[in-house]
Amino acid sequence: MKTFRIGGVHPAENKLSAGSPIREAALPKQAVFSMFQHIGAPAKPVVKKGDVVKVGTLLGEAGGFVSAPIYSSVSGKVSKVDVALDASDTRRMAVYVDVEGDEWEESIDRSDALVRLEDRPDLDAKTIVEKIKQAGIVGMGGATFPCHVKLCPPPGEKAECVIINAVECEPYLTADHSLMLEKADEILVGVALIMKAVGVERGYIGIENNKPDAIALMQEKVKAYPRIEVVPLKVQYPQGGEKQLIDAVIARQVPAPPAIPISVGAVVQNVGTAFAIYEAVMKNKPLISRIITVTGKSVKNPSNLLARLGTPFSQLIEECGGLPADTGKIIGGGPMMGKALISLDIPMTKGSSGLLIMNEKEARRAEPEPCIRCAKCVGACPMGLEPYLLAKISSQNMWDEAEKECIVSCIECGSCAFICPSHRPLLDNIRLGKSTVMGIIRERVAKK
Ligand code: SF4
Ligand code: SF4
Repeated sequence: MKTFRIGGVHPAENKLSAGSPIREAALPKQAVFSMFQHIGAPAKPVVKKGDVVKVGTLLGEAGGFVSAPIYSSVSGKVSKVDVALDASDTRRMAVYVDVEGDEWEESIDRSDALVRLEDRPDLDAKTIVEKIKQAGIVGMGGATFPCHVKLCPPPGEKAECVIINAVECEPYLTADHSLMLEKADEILVGVALIMKAVGVERGYIGIENNKPDAIALMQEKVKAYPRIEVVPLKVQYPQGGEKQLIDAVIARQVPAPPAIPISVGAVVQNVGTAFAIYEAVMKNKPLISRIITVTGKSVKNPSNLLARLGTPFSQLIEECGGLPADTGKIIGGGPMMGKALISLDIPMTKGSSGLLIMNEKEARRAEPEPCIRCAKCVGACPMGLEPYLLAKISSQNMWDEAEKECIVSCIECGSCAFICPSHRPLLDNIRLGKSTVMGIIRERVAKK
């Protein structure tokens, strides 16, 4: 069975919410919409205190080409435009809406009727990309890169295929899995729309073989789409990384930065993004909700919730049985790449794929011991880096060396820290080094 060729680890899967049907979360009393829900320039608020909004009303316009607009997921009254704490532990500009009723903009088609590509012969590539841009669609796997940017290859680059990331290799998370089981038809229309947008004849959907029900269903449904192929993949973390997925599915390796997936002809989108694209283009629905997995070994009812953006995490945890008494740490995302949250008042955003509640035992970090030079971290690194060295030079502020050793190629997957028998804080040090070196590179480019 196919997989990527360099590195990789096998953390315990702990997919506690697998098979749990998607449940709609209750409306919050107040929804808070960060203007920083994507990579790139923040959105600019276009509403003020006292404004009345509906589900689907524009709250913030895109702040540039690499940006995305923000829409209200609730109806009610804007109570303030002010800073709010987000999942990156930063206070940033946000729009607060006090919820009243559930009134939607009339332009949104709320019916369940499937709209196929052949039902909309009027849709050309330009129109599809524009609708995706206007709807504020971003990468839903957690990267939150504005989707329309990826669908507009830079001059000189040409897309040859679309690869859908339905791997969900992070332990515990099952949001994409549940979406495939319940929205397969809509996802396939979304994939066909992406293929039309970038003008390619081949589409692949990569799914790890720990989701046999999703593979079987998608293989059945894909029979109506001769240009799309479902590719079952061997379970291996971090197969959801773009470069790893491209290698696994079409056996092409993306060179080091500045090369990007399109450099080898691939456009990669998450399966949740394909669904959001279907809703944006065929239903005129901006990105206002998503599936989030709320899970953990002590959580009473691990679930896949369909929740409106802006809902506080505390409410989502309540809906799954409340915060367990033995909670040690709460992670936004999965255990490998997620980040610890310092507050439960943080609102859900476009990139919120999971909430993992670790118990005290799991949350305890082992004391780091000296490096024993076993090279296990090197063998596990999917980017072919030397993590022990990157961590060491980062901790010694040796930024020139860190750049030479390609620290910016690190995808922050955490495989090195996971495998290290000495419990070295490799990822913490490398993350710090990477962001510092990227800042130095940005400054250098700006001066030129
Ligand atoms: S976190 Fe970075 S250095 Fe560590 S294994 Fe992943 S890519 Fe390699
Ligand atoms: S895995 Fe840990 S102990 Fe082994 S070489 Fe890497 S940093 Fe050192």
